[in-house]
Amino acid sequence: MTGEVFVQLINVCKSFDREEAVLKNLNLEIKKGQFLTLLGPSGCGKTTTLRSIAGFETPTSGEIIIDNDNVTQSSPHERCVNTVFQNYALFPHMNIFDNIAFGLKMKKLPKMEIKDRVFEMLKMVQLEGYENRMPSQLSGGQMQRVAIARAVINNPKVLLLDEPLGALDLKLRKQMQLELKRLQRKLGITFIFVTHDQEEALTMSDSIVVMNKGVIEQAGTPEELYERPKTKFVADFLGETNILEGEVVKIKETEVLLNLEQEQDIIRIPNLNYDFGDKFTVSVRPERIKIKSAPEEGDVWLQCRIKEKVYSGFVIKTIATTRNGKEIVVNEPIEQRSSFGAKEDIFVTWKPEHSIVIKA
Ligand code: ATP
Repeated sequence: MTGEVFVQLINVCKSFDREEAVLKNLNLEIKKGQFLTLLGPSGCGKTTTLRSIAGFETPTSGEIIIDNDNVTQSSPHERCVNTVFQNYALFPHMNIFDNIAFGLKMKKLPKMEIKDRVFEMLKMVQLEGYENRMPSQLSGGQMQRVAIARAVINNPKVLLLDEPLGALDLKLRKQMQLELKRLQRKLGITFIFVTHDQEEALTMSDSIVVMNKGVIEQAGTPEELYERPKTKFVADFLGETNILEGEVVKIKETEVLLNLEQEQDIIRIPNLNYDFGDKFTVSVRPERIKIKSAPEEGDVWLQCRIKEKVYSGFVIKTIATTRNGKEIVVNEPIEQRSSFGAKEDIFVTWKPEHSIVIKA
């Protein structure tokens, strides 16, 4: 991957009619050869962002640059991008060969060249021998691979994918995630991928942009977003977590102490000019928490009672409640599970560095 910025959105805004803006001043840089995912809940503006890059929507204001070319007002076919949709959009009356060949036929390329390139694509998506079948004779995963082959045969510089795996069952979806990522590496094309599935985004992307209500909450690598979320929304949206409330209860020269769910003085953070009573959100991942009969030196802890334990394959999930009634989720690997049972009084504990402290 190079460091070159390839697609750029500058102050992009989009409103439909007189409703609230759907995109609010988006600024985004996508590097060449990157697998970038737009992630966010339904209605946050992912598809509108993708359609604006494709040229199916024109921003109300702002600019879109692709490969140093200002394409803000250009039509879709003038841009070196192609789109793959969730519903595949294959031509039902054409066989697989003709579906994949469609773009090249429109360009009136010589027949032999078209044939060579279609067979190359069929090989790439592992569908050799399927060229004479009709779309109705393929499985969902196979149809999606045809849609991808059809989209990349024209050598687009950017491939836009709008929930392309959304219609597949879980097992096939997971398999296609790996295939798609492998294909992207092989082709070196910049992929901009839309999903609302955070696990899918974490497994596939070089970079994730988390959107919420038309704004970018945070952009970064999957690890950055998971380990160092900057907002409560990102912490909560990406992966399972416990969101706890705290506020400054003691101020010292270089650090302040926070209470947590009404337990006193239990989190220390550097003092960045905070005031007494300043509110914080603390996110702790369930896999970071241990259940103990008493906290150990240096632990952050909350006194709890176990409500229930659930077996879920490779982890035991424990739900415990704090003294003020807040539920805490703990995931323990099967081989390291604690022996405490329902209704027992315990401490949930974690290392201070596993508290993700976010100013509310
Ligand atoms: P989903 O995951 O459900 O597809 P999304 O994040 O892709 O959601 P968008 O499809 O971009 O969200 O929609 C963002 C908002 O813009 C929604 O409130 C939607 O109703 C609105 N919207 C999208 N297209 C239009 C349109 N053509 N006319 C009016 N409103 C629209």
